[in-house]
Amino acid sequence: MKDAIQMVDLKSQYLKIKPEIDNALLSAVEEVAYINGPQVKRFTNSLKEFNKVNAAVTCANGTDALQIAMMGLGFKPGDEVIVPAFTYIATVEVIALLGLVPKFIDVIEDTFELDHTKLEGVISDKTVGVIPVHLFGQCSNMEAILSIAKKHNISVIEDTAQAMGAQYLYKDGSTAFAGTMGDIGTTSFFPSKNLGCFGDGGALLTNNVELGERVHIIANHGQRKKYYHETIGVNSRLDTLQAAILDVKIKYLNEYSSARQKVAKKYDESLNRLSGLIIPNRANYSTHVFNQYTCRIGNGKRDELKSYLQEKGIPTMVYYPIPVHLQEAYCTYGYNSGDFPVAERLCQEVISFPIHTEMKDNVQDYIIENIISFFN
Ligand SMILES: *Cc1c(COP(=O)(O)O)cnc(C)c1O
Repeated sequence: MKDAIQMVDLKSQYLKIKPEIDNALLSAVEEVAYINGPQVKRFTNSLKEFNKVNAAVTCANGTDALQIAMMGLGFKPGDEVIVPAFTYIATVEVIALLGLVPKFIDVIEDTFELDHTKLEGVISDKTVGVIPVHLFGQCSNMEAILSIAKKHNISVIEDTAQAMGAQYLYKDGSTAFAGTMGDIGTTSFFPSKNLGCFGDGGALLTNNVELGERVHIIANHGQRKKYYHETIGVNSRLDTLQAAILDVKIKYLNEYSSARQKVAKKYDESLNRLSGLIIPNRANYSTHVFNQYTCRIGNGKRDELKSYLQEKGIPTMVYYPIPVHLQEAYCTYGYNSGDFPVAERLCQEVISFPIHTEMKDNVQDYIIENIISFFN
């Protein structure tokens, strides 16, 4: 094995479309419209069209997108927002920063999404919203979540940072893109996300044009007209150079999803008979775009497998080692170990194997051989 194996191979992905990216970057540099250049508008439009949604608003990163969404929905300090206990910290961080109160709920062990059967139990008269996180690349059960949200008149923010391009499959056979079903969806263009730029970037998607306008204003210092501030906002812009890159890469997003699905299928077929390794059952209400390929390892053997593979030059990641309710920074909310048994167990069991758009057959064969040899 000549080159080191990586979780994500961004270099090869770039080299494949280098002339197109380089041209887009060079012309953005030469046009000198470094802030809110025409590339930003162009990409915003591409994003809107790709997702078949009424409004798209770009911003500086996926964490800002979540914050701007909550500001746009008018959440006030003291309001409660429901989030899964098993997610990336950003989802919860902005809730706390805005003085809102996070209410955690447990997740479903196969799909890693919030357990909608627990949702009604935590809704109070202070609840204003719920954030389903489409973790690892697959949509949460939106029909179930939306119907409960509607019944209790609370907003739904879809954290789509890991699922750009995934499609929800409604019972009636129709489909919708991840991030376009709730009141608003947020996403990230961090380099390792499914649609990644060469730095930071983020966006919001909504079919509510008025809400789209509101978050657009909030992301731009609360102004519609320069120096006239109608609301408290933030400074959160997608960089022009990043927009130029993204407007090239979005054309390849479906191809990228297929490439990831092909890698996942090969892992599935090769690893499904190993006792000790659990491939989660996938949702039948969503396609899966595999931002991560995540399995569960029982019997306390996860860390042993991780070191074993590390010795063979195979990187793996644990997303996530500690559930949010047990993070030191969030201990003031009064949760204890044992509160969310599924999330807590997943943190002991999950392991993510390398997956990306440029995976070579011989590299994946090597990874698979070594996973199998650990269990034999
Ligand atoms: C990456 C990620 C975010 C935050 O995105 P940034 O662009 O890094 O701020 C939020 N939620 C989830 C689930 C993520 O994976």
